[in-house]
Amino acid sequence: MNQKIQEIVADLKAYLEYLKGMGIEALPAAEEKVGKTVPSKAPTLKDIREGLGDCKRCKLHRTRRTIVFGEGNPNAKLMFVGEGPGYDEDVQGRPFVGKAGQLLTKIIQSIRLERGDVYIANIIKCRPPQNRNPEPDEIESCSPFLMKQIQAIQPKIICALGTFAAQTLLRTDAKITSLRGKAFELGGIKVLPTYHPAFLLRNSDKKREVWEDMKQIAEWLAKG
Ligand code: URA
Repeated sequence: MNQKIQEIVADLKAYLEYLKGMGIEALPAAEEKVGKTVPSKAPTLKDIREGLGDCKRCKLHRTRRTIVFGEGNPNAKLMFVGEGPGYDEDVQGRPFVGKAGQLLTKIIQSIRLERGDVYIANIIKCRPPQNRNPEPDEIESCSPFLMKQIQAIQPKIICALGTFAAQTLLRTDAKITSLRGKAFELGGIKVLPTYHPAFLLRNSDKKREVWEDMKQIAEWLAKG
């Protein structure tokens, strides 16, 4: 193979790896229409929710009440990603509606936005029993749906709330203390890990650092 072809193959390989990382296992097919080729559309949030169906892909379906898909502005520039539903979320079918959720609402308002301006989702969509940590097989079966949501929304910024969100999105084992406040990139989207609101409820001295992170996000948003 000459060098040019080798470069093209290497680029293509890296692109396919990147798509795989975003949870895309197949390339979009082009639909044949009389006389011309029309590329198929990226799935909408509605398509993704329908694809999820009455999900039984992992063991959490046995104990959950509701699938908590996510909510907010489908064209949000800013997206928050948490860990997984707790008791209140499982009952109401909405993300971040319990005590931690009330704090998240205040955090969002601290940069003069409302919940309806942003999109809020979680790494896993079903509550683990007794609110235990999500397990690797659960994250593996569920996170591709989050990646598809990110693709549909195409936010400019993702704020990863806590260890599981940061580690899963950034594919790292690094601790949240070392990731927090640093800017990362995921397919052209800025990712800023910060502390989880539930952690802040127990460690109010850490609120200051989250405030610094929110100021950074507000600056990025203002720059467009
Ligand atoms: N904690 C999370 O990580 N997500 C929720 O939706 C609620 C609490």
